[in-house]
Amino acid sequence: MSTDHRSIEVADGVFAYVHPVGGWGWSNAGLVVGEGASVLVDTLYDRPLTEAMLSAFGSAVATAPITTLVNTHANGDHCFGNSVVALPSVEVIASAASAEEFSELPPATMAFLVDAARNEDSELGRYIVESFGAFDFSGPPPAAPTTTFSGRLEREVGGKHLQLVEFGPAHTKGDLVVHLAEQGVVFTGDLLFIGGTPILWDGPVSNWLRACEQIEGWAPEVIVPGHGPLTDLDGVRAVARYLEAVETGCAERFSAGMTSREAIADLDRSFDHTEFSEWGDRERIAICVETCWRHLDPNHPVAPIMELFQTMAALAGRYQR
Ligand SMILES: [Zn+2]
Repeated sequence: MSTDHRSIEVADGVFAYVHPVGGWGWSNAGLVVGEGASVLVDTLYDRPLTEAMLSAFGSAVATAPITTLVNTHANGDHCFGNSVVALPSVEVIASAASAEEFSELPPATMAFLVDAARNEDSELGRYIVESFGAFDFSGPPPAAPTTTFSGRLEREVGGKHLQLVEFGPAHTKGDLVVHLAEQGVVFTGDLLFIGGTPILWDGPVSNWLRACEQIEGWAPEVIVPGHGPLTDLDGVRAVARYLEAVETGCAERFSAGMTSREAIADLDRSFDHTEFSEWGDRERIAICVETCWRHLDPNHPVAPIMELFQTMAALAGRYQR
């Protein structure tokens, strides 16, 4: 199977730009083409990937230039390409909570981490290079949102109606989804990972489950996840099952007196031979458990990011044995 992105017209004038595997950094995006104006939903992890996407969309936007860019959240794989798109005439929309996260982990920091990892012959170094070494982090910081909102925002662009609904904090602090009711399409950002393991950076899980319920309620025909192939309500339900299993598994282990480190190893093993064991980047369970732990114990410290990556590097080695 090709691992390149491809552009798919999922409804009249609505395109998904999908990476079929969707591991670390290999995100999806979307385009809504109206009369004389278009909306781009997310950019990609670097400038070359974003430029390739724009050229794939070339004929679609020839008479309907992008006037609006919506960022579903502030993770770099959904906004580091913003500078390619964000001309002064382009409105950049994100939730207010996401906008505050835009400058937290700039491309220069990723470039530094990957360069350092290349010079370090260690389990952690190899994991970082494998996960992020394919991307070009030499670009400028992402162009910041020019319009922010909390809750809901409606937009009509070139006759297409978009409903932006914020569900964060969940995957990140300010996740939003884009709902096109007339076309029966939802762009979920990273509130859906399909074929890959969800990452709970912020939570609580209940916010994320509320998003899954709302998406089910909309009964869309096509769902474009943040990572992995196009999906339907079965894909939404699978992500909800994972989050529920993590939340319940953490609560049980917390009550039993385990530490978060013990719970990561124990819960991970309990997922062997389940539907979740086949999902990519299974080691992300470490992030999910650490976040659940903070919700169970408000005094539980935020794990340093490199410590989380070290834990994930060690877990990833277990699956390959
Ligand atoms: Zn992502």
